Amino acid sequence: MFRTIKLKLPYDKSLLETGERFREACQMALDYGFSARTFNKNKLNRATYEDVRKAIPTLPSALVQTARDTASESLKQTKLEKKIHRKSLTIRYDRRTFRFYPDSHTISLTTVSGRLVFPVALSPLIEKYRGEYTNAQVFIDTKHRKMSVMIQVELQDKEVEKKVYNNIKVMGVDRGIRNMAVLSNNIFFNSAQLKDVKGRYRYNRKKLQHAGTRSAHLKLKELSGRERRFVQNTNHAISKQIVNFPFDVIALEDLGSARMRTKRNGRRFNRKLGSWSPHHLEQFIEYKAQERNKSVVYVNPRYTSQRCSSCGYVHKDNRKGSVFRCLKCGFELHADLNASRNIEVLGKSEYFRLLSTSQSLRFDESMPTDVAETSNKLQPFRVQ
Ligand SMILES: [Zn+2]
Repeated sequence: MFRTIKLKLPYDKSLLETGERFREACQMALDYGFSARTFNKNKLNRATYEDVRKAIPTLPSALVQTARDTASESLKQTKLEKKIHRKSLTIRYDRRTFRFYPDSHTISLTTVSGRLVFPVALSPLIEKYRGEYTNAQVFIDTKHRKMSVMIQVELQDKEVEKKVYNNIKVMGVDRGIRNMAVLSNNIFFNSAQLKDVKGRYRYNRKKLQHAGTRSAHLKLKELSGRERRFVQNTNHAISKQIVNFPFDVIALEDLGSARMRTKRNGRRFNRKLGSWSPHHLEQFIEYKAQERNKSVVYVNPRYTSQRCSSCGYVHKDNRKGSVFRCLKCGFELHADLNASRNIEVLGKSEYFRLLSTSQSLRFDESMPTDVAETSNKLQPFRVQ
């Protein structure tokens, strides 16, 4: 069920400028669509995106896109029968460009001056309007110097929540040395090929370094470029496959944690795989997941290799090398696969924790920690 919340905003210079730039971007798409006889979003995007970015460099890319969507809908409504001159200074926001924080009485909006947080006055009725804040529109009235925002909220009752919880599909990914990635749906990405090629490069490099001539030096340079591209292609291929599986959420171990540090810094690991690292793979996964509207969550890797994914029993002797055998229930599985299934379970609860606290997932702009203290300030501030 959808509801709308209307709130007053302080009259702000950056927001006003954003409204004007948004209108220009929208007009460019309108003009193109009218002359090219199309309201197709993809066509409009292909034809106008670069030009709009060049003409209006201060307008963030996500707003260029919502301006184009707005134009597309206006063109569709008028059936391309008349030329449209956009007058209103209305800005459309989506999940990428706004976030509403009812607890701290603030809303953050993307503007030409970066992400700004605005204080808003709320009535106690707001409790009835808890849910997912899906999109928003900012209205600017220059004549009366007034600004307001309409937020659309999707109300969620407990039953719906439970259904969502049961239907959401999470994939756990265990990253390591022998297997670069093991997925909880039983897919293994082996590093043997990478190591092979790396070894060959290392051998050639040594030979050339030994030669020490000018041509050897040039050859060395070429080689390192080729090696880098090879690693990049490998990451590209693996991450593409991972995000293309039919899952909504991809769960990875948090690289900042102690266990992953050991994994990452292992000497043998570095020598064998050279510039490949789980971190690079992670960046590829994040980027591709974002394109496909999927989420990436990070979990604490503690116990993921010791816990039995069948009965939950944790013991360090459960694992011996690549074999996992539960001391309590006898469950047996490849150790990395067992770990990836534990990561899946942790990922699911982490995903819902983030949803229910309405904090952003990691690939979004995160909520500023000092937001609560600034609710009385009338000036917006920038999110770091
Ligand atoms: Zn067990």
